[in-house]
Amino acid sequence: MRTVFRDDHEQFRQTARRFVEKEITPHLHTWEAAGIVPKSLWLKAGEAGLLCATVPEEFGGSGGDYGHSAVMVEELARANATAVGFTTHSEIVAPYIVAYGTDEQKQRWLPGMVSGELIGVIAMSEPGIGSDLRSMRTTVKRITDEQGDAYIVNGQKTFITNGGNAGLMVTATKLDPADKKLTLICVESERAGFSKGRLLEKIGLKGQDTSELFFDNVRVPVENRLGEENEGFKYLTHQLAWERTIIGIRAAASIEALLEETIQYTRDRKVFGQSVFDFQNTRFKLAECKAQLTMLQVFVDDCLAKAMRGELTPEVGAMCKLLGSEMQGKVLDELLQLHGGYGFMSEYKIGRAWVDARVARIYGGTSEIMKEIIARSL
Ligand SMILES: Cc1cc2nc3c(=O)[nH]c(=O)nc-3n(C[C@H](O)[C@H](O)[C@H](O)COP(=O)(O)OP(=O)(O)OC[C@H]3O[C@@H](n4cnc5c(N)ncnc54)[C@H](O)[C@@H]3O)c2cc1C
Repeated sequence: MRTVFRDDHEQFRQTARRFVEKEITPHLHTWEAAGIVPKSLWLKAGEAGLLCATVPEEFGGSGGDYGHSAVMVEELARANATAVGFTTHSEIVAPYIVAYGTDEQKQRWLPGMVSGELIGVIAMSEPGIGSDLRSMRTTVKRITDEQGDAYIVNGQKTFITNGGNAGLMVTATKLDPADKKLTLICVESERAGFSKGRLLEKIGLKGQDTSELFFDNVRVPVENRLGEENEGFKYLTHQLAWERTIIGIRAAASIEALLEETIQYTRDRKVFGQSVFDFQNTRFKLAECKAQLTMLQVFVDDCLAKAMRGELTPEVGAMCKLLGSEMQGKVLDELLQLHGGYGFMSEYKIGRAWVDARVARIYGGTSEIMKEIIARSL
């Protein structure tokens, strides 16, 4: 019995579940083949009130809390709808604008993000850096000329989720390439000098449009700076705690759904005249998975409750991601094994989920970096 959710969260869950069943699950294979989900899905999700749950009503949102956010993450994870990049948009990019944007920026961007017309990305990683963010090379220069005050952005980003569909990039840059301070600049996709690279081919998350982004003397007005100059790393550190908690929440929901499926599969599958479930080995494996899931769920819900109370710390976010993603990898591997050869077939959810889960130990900061963050608090 989970106590972290209220009735309004559970009502929201029904809407989210119906939407995922009707608008997402039937199309996942098509989108995986295309390497991208259509923009029309974003508009439908916006219309159903499923994007950017925590954006305040005055900016077009529904003014929900992290509980609503978690519900959406869980419902996508249960369906293994990992191709759909709503979470980056709703739970990372929109919260940056809510937290650090001016009223003018919020009015300019948030209503379009809530409706699904404007798709957001967070652009930190570069070909040469991922873990070591402060060594990034994308630069920004402040200028004043006859057209007014502006920033000029130059550089390249890679591995960017939603990059293909992107309309607004929260981009990490440096004013002085020699120091470690970061400045966040919002770049709209129609700005001259900005271009998108090819969709990157991946071993999993195949329907997610992950791509490179190029900034060649892109001019944006100073009003596109998010927060203060040189404060970007502090903002990233603060927001990444929630991003990492989400990865733990997603892991628990994915394990739960696939455990249910595997119990059913092993009951139905007959081998040597008995169901696979009836082998003691199968029941012991499933029992171990259930025990681990139960432990993870309690911890994840505690992390979520902390987030809802405004008490989430970078260490707790890192622990949630580390434990969730590592356990997801191990448990899904066991569940796949119980499917035999069918587990290796793409048409079965377990196989796709197993591949897709691999990246959870890498993106949002690798498991090794999570340990570094936790170790700092020792
Ligand atoms: C599908 C996908 C989607 C992504 N989406 C986004 C996105 O939307 N936006 C974005 O900005 N980025 C995104 N990323 C990038 C992701 O966050 C980085 O890949 C990740 O942070 C790791 O960086 P790296 O790939 O450069 O690995 P590296 O930093 O090169 O790491 C290589 C290895 O060295 C280890 N290592 C590094 N530093 C240490 C250390 N101090 N101690 C011990 N070991 C260490 C790492 O753990 C890893 O095992 C995405 C990546 C993928 C694969």
